[in-house]
Amino acid sequence: MSARAPRRAIIVGGGIMGLSTAWALARGGAAVTVLDQGSIPNQRGSSVDQHRLIRHPYGASRGYTRMIAEAYRGWDLMWRDIGDTLYANTGTLALTASDGGWLADSQTTMAQEKIAFARLDPTTVARDYPALRADDLRQAVRVERGGVLFAAPIVARLARHLAARGVALRAQTRVAAIDAARGRVTLGDGETLAADVVVAAAGPWTGTLLPAMAAKMTPQRQVVVYLVPPPDLAPFWLRAPMVLDIDPETGLYVVPPRGGAALKIGDHVVAEGGDPDGDRVARSDEIARVLAAGAKRLLRLDAYRVAFAKVCFYDVSGDERFIVAPIGARAWAMTGFSGHGFKFGAALGLRLAATIEGRHAPEDTTRWATGEI
Ligand SMILES: Cc1cc2nc3c(=O)[nH]c(=O)nc-3n(C[C@H](O)[C@H](O)[C@H](O)COP(=O)(O)OP(=O)(O)OC[C@H]3O[C@@H](n4cnc5c(N)ncnc54)[C@H](O)[C@@H]3O)c2cc1C
Repeated sequence: MSARAPRRAIIVGGGIMGLSTAWALARGGAAVTVLDQGSIPNQRGSSVDQHRLIRHPYGASRGYTRMIAEAYRGWDLMWRDIGDTLYANTGTLALTASDGGWLADSQTTMAQEKIAFARLDPTTVARDYPALRADDLRQAVRVERGGVLFAAPIVARLARHLAARGVALRAQTRVAAIDAARGRVTLGDGETLAADVVVAAAGPWTGTLLPAMAAKMTPQRQVVVYLVPPPDLAPFWLRAPMVLDIDPETGLYVVPPRGGAALKIGDHVVAEGGDPDGDRVARSDEIARVLAAGAKRLLRLDAYRVAFAKVCFYDVSGDERFIVAPIGARAWAMTGFSGHGFKFGAALGLRLAATIEGRHAPEDTTRWATGEI
């Protein structure tokens, strides 16, 4: 236990960020309590879906590109602790009908960071990935590492692991207010709890819990669509890489089925705001928009069956950079994960715990989390 390690910590939020931070602080010897307004896992939380992607291409961001190696190290440590590897490597296929843009930037950044990738020509893409449209391609890149984190199972398994090692998990316990100067939280029923440090990891509810943060992040409604491919394409998808097609108009991502999880498509377009406590029924126009994005890259999309669609929320910061910052002498906020935070969950938890324990300067960690290292 380091000299400045907290003896007691309270974590508000039992999503991947809160649980990873609880895990890392408990590893350091702290007595940790996790509070969640819902169940743990909370089906309405951003972390609870069949999968989340981890990939090297990151546009022009050298910081987030570099952090991917740290992200993998964090997961490896977590897999050792929980006794299970909840990840499948699929490789990454990034392609686009545009010149320049996100994928050109990603290639430049990966070259600078010495991350190996192969450029593919449209003929090769058409031959090796017959479910994909290739005739319009201007860029195509394959990276061998990258894949699927089984998100809901990770959160559930991590929660069980924490409970088994003595972390107190209190579900159905809404925090009404945080006294960041004194390290106290007031629960919805008026009870007060105190600790050496409080971490607020409230996902898209951050602005409600911490009104001062409301101007820095916005909840954004997103829809993902689960598909059943036609029988002749099912074997292809079982060995397919993740597919990213990001241009100025769409941010299509395709998550291949692995480990019992299904084929999913989504469109990383920051579309509309919304209320994470509101209805979670995907509207037909929302599903149609995602399918239209998918149809630009997946051949014969009309032969796929829509299994179901899921509504989930991003917590979007102005520039899509993460916010991990002290909000008082005894409290931190983690938010602004902008639809790309899950992959860094274990690494963010380890880094914040190490900072709270005095092994990093707070301002260095805040800067690191923005991807500006
Ligand atoms: C459709 C979609 C696709 C995504 N794809 C990817 C991807 O491919 N790769 C990737 O890296 N990331 C992805 N993300 C982003 C990633 O899922 C999120 O960044 C991450 O899950 C955020 O975790 P969190 O713990 O901050 O939030 P959450 O999981 O939402 O957890 C917050 C928790 O806080 C609790 N809470 C809130 N307020 C209170 C309160 N007052 N009192 C008590 N408890 C409270 C909530 O109940 C909730 O359980 C995606 C997100 C979405 C929505």
